[in-house]
Amino acid sequence: MAVERTLSIIKPDATCRDLTGRINARFEESGLHIVAQKRIRMTLGVAEKFYEVHRRRSFFDDLCAFMASGPVVVQVLEGEDAIARNREIMGATNPDNAEEKTIRRDFGESIEANSVHGSDSLETAAREIAFFFSDIEIVG
Ligand code: GDP
Repeated sequence: MAVERTLSIIKPDATCRDLTGRINARFEESGLHIVAQKRIRMTLGVAEKFYEVHRRRSFFDDLCAFMASGPVVVQVLEGEDAIARNREIMGATNPDNAEEKTIRRDFGESIEANSVHGSDSLETAAREIAFFFSDIEIVG
């Protein structure tokens, strides 16, 4: 297994319920190091650009409006097999289908307001990390 970096976002439904610390503890307890982190408010335009690959999906407008509806915490997680590991810790997209003890099962409110985002491949991770962070903001 290789050491990888992945982009994580703590979504507005979770920041608004003050779950940032509890979600970060899940990452750290699972061996994922938070090597960059900032709390921001996305504009609708930024959310649309970030989710560009989903533009044709029926939920695109709703998803972008939701992501711009409140603060988010964008972060880079680093560790062995970090991309797959993080997706395991997050759980399935729909909290109702997520395994027990995953973030989405424990904290998610709906298929849209599911508390966290995580990159799904090496290529996506590289693009998503560069979308929010410059090299000097990532400190391993
Ligand atoms: P992920 O990789 O598990 O985050 O899932 P996707 O890449 O398929 O979808 C991106 C995000 O869009 C999800 O995390 C949800 O916030 C949202 N989403 C996915 N499916 C739906 C849906 O059917 N309806 C709505 N409203 N949002 C969805």
